[in-house]
Amino acid sequence: MFPGADEYGVEVHIDDAAVDRLLAVGPDDVDEQRSSAHRTQSGDVDAPSSLSFSRNVFLPLTTACRYTCTYCTYYDVPGEATLMSLDEVRDVVQMGADAGCTEALFTFGDAPDERYTEIHRQLDEWGYDDILEYLVAACEVALDEGLLPHSNPGDLTREQFESLAPVNASMGVMLETTADVAAHAGNRRKTPGQRLNTIRAAGEEGVPFTTGILVGIGETWRDRAESLLAIRALHERYGHIQEVIVQNVVPNDRSDYERPSIETMRRVVSMARVALPEEISVQVPPNLSEAARLVDCGVDDLGGVSPVTDDYVNPEYAWPALQELADIAEESGVPLRERLPVYARYLPDEFRPSGIEAAPAPRNRETWIREPIADRLRGGDVHSERLRHVAHGDGPLSTPET
Ligand code: SF4
Repeated sequence: MFPGADEYGVEVHIDDAAVDRLLAVGPDDVDEQRSSAHRTQSGDVDAPSSLSFSRNVFLPLTTACRYTCTYCTYYDVPGEATLMSLDEVRDVVQMGADAGCTEALFTFGDAPDERYTEIHRQLDEWGYDDILEYLVAACEVALDEGLLPHSNPGDLTREQFESLAPVNASMGVMLETTADVAAHAGNRRKTPGQRLNTIRAAGEEGVPFTTGILVGIGETWRDRAESLLAIRALHERYGHIQEVIVQNVVPNDRSDYERPSIETMRRVVSMARVALPEEISVQVPPNLSEAARLVDCGVDDLGGVSPVTDDYVNPEYAWPALQELADIAEESGVPLRERLPVYARYLPDEFRPSGIEAAPAPRNRETWIREPIADRLRGGDVHSERLRHVAHGDGPLSTPET
């Protein structure tokens, strides 16, 4: 049982033999001298047939977080933490919609605890009981201006998902690891059980979901294998995991974690590709990883890129321009396709491109997409038209099927 799992009643059992099989997975030595177009297979994994990405704006709704993970530069301490006003949210999403984005990526730490008195006072002054109620209002602004929200508000209960799901196309939280690592040490710490509980709650509520592992925070190879298999186990139960991010830690102002080597990343990505069913995308963030050297290990998604906002989670590492994504795809010999923040298989029939099979409906309703999101997709304005184009695979940077 994983640390903290008992407390949340999360039962995810991992077979030792499956871990051992995964530990044997890895890329063969790839002859870097060969033309990348001919590097179609690497050890135990196949290269993808295309690379996808979404065009987003990044909205750090608040930098307050109840935790203090040692590798994190995102959170600000009480007194310094910020809270975006809805006017600021509107300005950013309008800019994004004008620049052709489809996704409003709302990120903040876990709900601010009682130490953040100013954040709570401000929310109260604006008429909100808590940060999640405020997030709903911010998502409504994004929908109003023509973007589909994807929120990462930290750990949530099923009831909290229920209130956020109608205004989000998809949501996410990083599992990071199933291990108890010193990086999460301190009085206030998140636990693997808590994260697994959140991923389970998303599945129970039928929310298309993004999660991932963080590589290099003190976990072992066995921990990496177990983390990937735990994600798989929850997906097999609910069918809701759309992508798994394999993210390497990077040194920053607050810590000096060593960046994992490219050899380590190639092996972890290969393990992720083998561990996860084909329908789950494997993503690496190209501003933190040498993505072009990981594609042949099974990476098929490059995440969200923003033409108008910084990456506030890792501000020292600027997002590559869209052209750089095109260069990674070209170097890897595969086409680049733009996608929505919700993967195509979760879309209702009317928006799903032909050839993409629908994900079986979630257990508690007929469709994965709630009405406010479906209404935005079928609207009559230029924004809905753009969203439909991207949904159907003919967005601005997409290339025709070959
Ligand atoms: S990694 Fe997430 S949970 Fe940890 S301190 Fe940063 S924002 Fe908070």
